[in-house]
Amino acid sequence: MASIFSKIIAGEIPGDIVYRDDLVTAFRDINPQAPTHILIVPNKEIPSVNDVTAADEAVLGRMFLAAQQIAAQEGIADNGYRLIVNCGQHGHQEVLHVHMHLMGGRPLGPMLYRTSR
Ligand code: 5GP
Repeated sequence: MASIFSKIIAGEIPGDIVYRDDLVTAFRDINPQAPTHILIVPNKEIPSVNDVTAADEAVLGRMFLAAQQIAAQEGIADNGYRLIVNCGQHGHQEVLHVHMHLMGGRPLGPMLYRTSR
């Protein structure tokens, strides 16, 4: 079954798309955690980082180039931003379609809450 992100990419369900090319699509997160919170998603459905292969190198590289371009578009490049890719249960991955979170627009603080290791 197609992932929710594949359906957004295919235009089957609505998404606030901010960037699209032959390899990746980016749209605003439905539940933003920062003033800018965008998901950069391979057009090809790869469930998680554990499923990435060498054949995916181009799309993975393109995700970073798209992040750079979108950050400039959003006006957050100079102040900086955070890129996050969650994987699996301990990584708290909720949608099984690889995606990079691009977050910025305010100081984001330390990467993880400093609780027990
Ligand atoms: P994960 O925890 O898998 O790294 O992040 C999944 C993200 O997808 C969450 O930030 C969540 O808000 C977002 N999300 C889940 N469903 C939808 C949706 O239907 N549309 C959009 N735009 N974002 C979604």
